[in-house]
Amino acid sequence: MSRLIVVSNRVQDPAAGPGVGGLAVALGEALNSSGGIWVGWNGHVEDDPTLPVSWQEERSGNLTLLTTSLTQEEHQGYYLGFANRVLWPAFHYRLDLVDYTNAHTRVYGAVNRRLAMKIATILKPDDRIWIHDYHLIPLAAELRAAGCGNPIGYFQHIPLPPPSILTAVPEYSWLVRALFAYDVVGFQTETDRQHLIQQVCQQESAATVDGEYVTAFGRSTRVKSYPIGIDVDRFGDMARTADAQEIIDRLHRRNLNRAQVIGVDRLDYSKGLPERLESVRRLLELYPENRGAMTFMQIAPTSRGAVDAYVDLHERLDSLSGEINSKFSDFDWTPIRYINRQFPRETLAALYRASRAALITPLRDGMNLVAHEYVVAQDPEDPGMPVLSRFAGAADYMKDAVLINPYNIDETAIALQTALQMPLKERQRRHERLMDVVRDLDVSRWSSRFLNDLGQLVRAIPS
Ligand code: ADP
Repeated sequence: MSRLIVVSNRVQDPAAGPGVGGLAVALGEALNSSGGIWVGWNGHVEDDPTLPVSWQEERSGNLTLLTTSLTQEEHQGYYLGFANRVLWPAFHYRLDLVDYTNAHTRVYGAVNRRLAMKIATILKPDDRIWIHDYHLIPLAAELRAAGCGNPIGYFQHIPLPPPSILTAVPEYSWLVRALFAYDVVGFQTETDRQHLIQQVCQQESAATVDGEYVTAFGRSTRVKSYPIGIDVDRFGDMARTADAQEIIDRLHRRNLNRAQVIGVDRLDYSKGLPERLESVRRLLELYPENRGAMTFMQIAPTSRGAVDAYVDLHERLDSLSGEINSKFSDFDWTPIRYINRQFPRETLAALYRASRAALITPLRDGMNLVAHEYVVAQDPEDPGMPVLSRFAGAADYMKDAVLINPYNIDETAIALQTALQMPLKERQRRHERLMDVVRDLDVSRWSSRFLNDLGQLVRAIPS
């Protein structure tokens, strides 16, 4: 059996404990079954710039974790710079937040080259390589330059914007060309796939599309959507334990059986959090019967605290939630509970189940796994309703959620009222169909779909 080599910006030991997410578990399964290797950054930044960066090798079950630290320059230019201040905002359609510092691009390319050089030293002829996300777009091109002819796949977890936005990214044509060093390129949605096709046809007049195959820059690449999901059974089980029930009962007692609405997100400007708080304010204005009868709990742990845009967002949310609370609170009721920290996944599962509705309203999102988690955690006899942004990849699949435009505050407030008032029969009907969708997108099916396509290439290679 050919080995699988997974490369991602961060490496997570799939055996690290129950808190590990579905993606790490699914990749861990695929890696374990092939005795594979997971390569990436270990999260450490070298303090001393005179020290060379090191590599560490560690066994976990049947797989090997091969990780490196970053130098300070690499951390600034590759991770905080090009990945988080250029590609992340631009790919989420936020050109206003892009940092056009030229040096970032150079360091991003150099880190990809360094990883490629290391991987080239461990490669066997029949290894398959699966590269994850926007931090590593040029990695296959670097591997090809180092003589690698192995099958290489790329999956992008975040959106790909249309050419009108992509062409404003520094060195965009280099990035697009680099995607054609892969054999398989996967996106979350058909829309993202079409954006790449439009871009490449605009960039290279000789590009052709034949079904799933796009030929450009002298290579033919399979470009396809592979929507990702969660580990449905594992997450569903977490919501049904005795501990989960205790959390649910405690919460209902504290809320005096008021309806709870939940939001769970990393604190990120792509998540539409200020707009979401505004829509809760609007709900209380438009439908005063919710005053004293509904509580909105927003859980949003800080992420990327070293990037200015995230610090600004944190301050804005603090002041907005304070403003809404001081206007509407009563002596025994506060409309918004804003919690700025991480919770164990088991606690999240219980909080989802205890919530009559969820506000999942990103301005732009690759998939949005919170939408899947919320649906899976519900009691099918009395399920809550997700209010979901049309601009999340999940909306392309979860048509039975209450879909909204998150920029439209009134529309979101009205949709939340619809979700809160929805009759039981309709909630049950919608939930059943939503469960069919999230099951179909289960993360283990997602990884099999991708690896099957990459595996077909292995069989196609003459021995
Ligand atoms: P993104 O990958 O952009 O953060 P997703 O919705 O796809 O967005 O995935 C977010 C993941 O992070 C989900 O699995 C969610 O449960 C988890 N998460 C978000 N907030 C918290 C929190 N406060 N504590 C623990 N996990 C969280």
